[in-house]
Amino acid sequence: PTTLITGATGFIAGHCIEQLLKADHKVIGTIRSQEKGQRLAAAFPEAIKTGQLVFETVSDVRSEQEFKTLFQKHTDIKYVLHTASPFHFNVEDPVKDMLEPAVEGTLTVLKTAKQYAPQVEKFVITSSFAAMMNWHEVGDSSAVVTEKSWNPVTWDEAAQKGNVVVTYLGSKKFAEKAAWDFMESEKPSFGLTTVNPAYVFGPGIAIDAKALNTSNEVIVQGALSTKPGQDAPAGPAQMWVDVRDVAKAHLSAISKTLDNQRLMLCVSKFCNQDLLDVINEKVPELKGKIATGKPGTGAETDKEGFQFDNDQTRKALNYDWIPLDKSVADFANQWLSFQN
Ligand code: NDP
Repeated sequence: PTTLITGATGFIAGHCIEQLLKADHKVIGTIRSQEKGQRLAAAFPEAIKTGQLVFETVSDVRSEQEFKTLFQKHTDIKYVLHTASPFHFNVEDPVKDMLEPAVEGTLTVLKTAKQYAPQVEKFVITSSFAAMMNWHEVGDSSAVVTEKSWNPVTWDEAAQKGNVVVTYLGSKKFAEKAAWDFMESEKPSFGLTTVNPAYVFGPGIAIDAKALNTSNEVIVQGALSTKPGQDAPAGPAQMWVDVRDVAKAHLSAISKTLDNQRLMLCVSKFCNQDLLDVINEKVPELKGKIATGKPGTGAETDKEGFQFDNDQTRKALNYDWIPLDKSVADFANQWLSFQN
């Protein structure tokens, strides 16, 4: 089958592409930067050579014209994975730089697929745990986030300058809501599943050593850039999942009957002490070079603050989830290789 993936140059998309190619899909990836496209192509030389992996430049994810051209050129696209959305905190104009690309981008891909690609059977959108969690409940251990939860951020709050985290939470909520509303009002012939991961950790494919993705930066800030003798950096415990499992969930979403589901991808909670413990134990090259904090005390922090319940997703996917020590150690080893 042929699968379109938007935002092919992203951290999660790289792993989706790798797994799609392994599963014998033909992959069309949209890119907007030739430099990033070349780096990605270099990671899959065989697939590029045989034409199993093809890139198409889409300069703006909101451009109906560009997606119309793409769908009219590739008339065999059966599945669409929409991953492209701003996930960084360099935002000057919250509406133009984050909310609009997220929401209008999602609607553009849905609309043009419905209009110009009637053969498309399935849409998978990379939403986020951010669309589900309530920021005010991070410190409230009686709060439980489930597959039915939505964050309460309003458009006006998200559109205000000065709190880019709230803007990001809004971008994911409004983009995902727009997609479900589209399904309801437009009744396209394709099905929709959203994949809602928490912080995504793990090694990247074809990543730029100077511009790590936003979620792995949490490991850099929380552990890799600490100094011996320091405490673990303060901060609430959050949820996480490995990037390879996130990609796997995108593939499950197209190949299984998961229509109309929101897949909440959270393996467990972690705090900075947990990250330090894993790295000190699993990455010998870093032992003595980063903080140790108070080993073994992370579990206490993890019990505090909001909790999650994703039983429905766990049952639907039935995975052996990659554990935190592997995910973090694999990333830390890749990060180490960039330091030399
Ligand atoms: P990356 O920043 O690595 O990837 C984002 C991708 O989207 C890139 O290909 C990027 O293109 C593209 N993109 C961003 N903004 C635009 C735009 N305005 N127009 C066109 N393309 C754009 O992040 P991730 O791989 O981590 O994120 C992928 C998706 O997963 C996003 O939707 C994100 O919200 C979601 N997500 C990520 C989580 C995480 O912890 N990593 C957790 C939950 C959800 P370019 O490379 O050219 O910049």
